[in-house]
Amino acid sequence: MNNPWGKLTGIRPAKIATKLLARGMTDEQVIDYFVTECGTEYQKAALALECARALVPVREKMYENGVSLYIGIPFCPSRCLYCSFVTNGTKQAAKLKPDYVEALKKEIAYTAEIVKENKNIVETVYIGGGTPTSLSAGLMDDMLTCLENEFDLSRVREFTVEAGRPDTIDREKLDVMKRHGVSRISINPQSMNDETLRVIGRAHSARDIRGAMALARERGFDDINMDVIAGLPGESLDMFKYTLEEVEKLKPTDTTVHVMSIKRSSRLNEYLSDYDLTDGGTVSKMVDYAREFLASKGKRPYYMYRQKNQLGNLENVGYALPGYESLYNLYIMEEIQTIISMGCGGVTKTVDRETDRIERIFNVKEPKDYILRIDEMLHRKDILRGEIPDFRHRISEFKREL
Ligand code: SF4
Repeated sequence: MNNPWGKLTGIRPAKIATKLLARGMTDEQVIDYFVTECGTEYQKAALALECARALVPVREKMYENGVSLYIGIPFCPSRCLYCSFVTNGTKQAAKLKPDYVEALKKEIAYTAEIVKENKNIVETVYIGGGTPTSLSAGLMDDMLTCLENEFDLSRVREFTVEAGRPDTIDREKLDVMKRHGVSRISINPQSMNDETLRVIGRAHSARDIRGAMALARERGFDDINMDVIAGLPGESLDMFKYTLEEVEKLKPTDTTVHVMSIKRSSRLNEYLSDYDLTDGGTVSKMVDYAREFLASKGKRPYYMYRQKNQLGNLENVGYALPGYESLYNLYIMEEIQTIISMGCGGVTKTVDRETDRIERIFNVKEPKDYILRIDEMLHRKDILRGEIPDFRHRISEFKREL
């Protein structure tokens, strides 16, 4: 099977390029390392390098004792065909939402105490899922008020909420987010072809996506990310081109191009033979087209990662207009800042500056378990007391690692 990344198996090729640059290698030497040592295609090596280069100015501005916060909302209006997350779209699950937010508020308050004790500064906030905007405006307001009251958010540089599905967005929710200082949202069409949206289990049309974008602009959001997927079942190169062109007409500041991956616990994997999968060669043409097309719109790649079982062994890439690169995406992908996660499915990740060791603290994945076992989740966070490290200077440790 063709593998454009050669023998590289990790999910973060850009991190390798960052390390090589930190050793003092030139751009040419970095590319040569990928091509000759790893068998990576030239174009992919150049992509990893470009993402590593995008990190340099961002790293210089990081807070010395900064941390990022992640909050998981595990509810969606329905489950997408390719999804393997614990997402709860049933009516029964919807009943859990108020109790879920109550439990989350406990974890927010508890975590905020630890962050205060450790004198960490909250630099970015990311609310993901799931689809956070599956919560009602009232519950969102409740959760965001708690976050604002418990944490000092006065130095936050980026506050993102994934408003992924256009059928969960309305004026009231957008206004709640705006009032609480959300600076960046994500509206994720995946495809602008109505038939594909139906096949992947979305209960909305391309028209709804255009409507949600217009509404978000009207309510004052100007930093909006949109996600698309290359290689959705039944899609040709022309269909993908159409999606990208339609998305760019909506002028998102940041466009993420994912490549379809067949996740083990997805419905797609279960009924694989029922679907017309796009071949790796076509998906490769899709991502090449995306890169060129987005460059023509002034966007450049700034973060990337690979996943298991991606069509064509390709990669996911975030493209942004200069100055709109998401800090959170860079911090999490390059593992250069502690991310403290709250909510079910959350994984807190810290790195010890002295030993360069990454530690993870896991929360349970099911909302029911999370609600029932919230005290245990709080207790797990005690590991953080006095131990959140400062990663700003990890660049020197990269040298040691290699
Ligand atoms: S919106 Fe995202 S989290 Fe929700 S079902 Fe679809 S892929 Fe899964």
